[in-house]
Amino acid sequence: MQAKKRLYVGLLGFSLIMVIGIAALVWYIFTHRDILVNQVLLIGMLVIAAVIFAVLGLGILAIVMMIIRCKSFPSLETLTQWANGMLFPLTLLTGRFFGIDKDKILKSFISVNNYLVGNKNLALRCQDIMILLPHCLQNSECKFKITIDINNCRNCGKCKIGALKELAEQYRVKLRVATGGTLARKWIKETKPKAVIAVACERDLSAGIQDTGELPVLGVLNCRPHGPCLNTDVDVAEIERALLTISKGGCL
Ligand code: SF4
Repeated sequence: MQAKKRLYVGLLGFSLIMVIGIAALVWYIFTHRDILVNQVLLIGMLVIAAVIFAVLGLGILAIVMMIIRCKSFPSLETLTQWANGMLFPLTLLTGRFFGIDKDKILKSFISVNNYLVGNKNLALRCQDIMILLPHCLQNSECKFKITIDINNCRNCGKCKIGALKELAEQYRVKLRVATGGTLARKWIKETKPKAVIAVACERDLSAGIQDTGELPVLGVLNCRPHGPCLNTDVDVAEIERALLTISKGGCL
């Protein structure tokens, strides 16, 4: 995936500037009132706002630093999560205001996320990694219930599930198929992985990455030659590369 990281980081920064502008306007209106209590309230609001902006600004700065220095700073990860979590919806709104395609922004976000996860230099055991697949990867005419147990797949070659099952066996990673966010959360809760390689579309992947909090998630986009949610496809080599990134190839 070759999405530009600066799109997402730039929109994050611009979103923050917009919020600061609105706060400045509120401040202007309030200081033109002559009621003392309003002014006291205003000062209190400004102090709180200044702290929030400082935290968000530091969070964005931390993301930029991690990208520039090509390394992760564990002590700053909480700040980056706060900045992402609080400014993400505003970032999408800002993108929409500028007419930027939502999927393009989401791709950029996933690219930034993958870069930051890659820079954590994780060296996990393969049994601590889970590959999470969307149900739409399965051939729509297949009658085997792979969401219950992926071993029900007969590896007939009509979809990539068989090849991914082989990859999971080869590296001894956990492999699960989810029909949606609820089942995905259930698999994470049950298998307790230390990292997840998730395959999905832009929207599901970015929602999943936001959802999982501190759990590192490497996102791999699926291809939709037949439109969304039907007989989708994925590059198995890209999943293997993601696996080697967080296991350092040491789990074979
Ligand atoms: S590879 Fe597995 S899941 Fe896909 S169609 Fe064949 S049996 Fe079904």
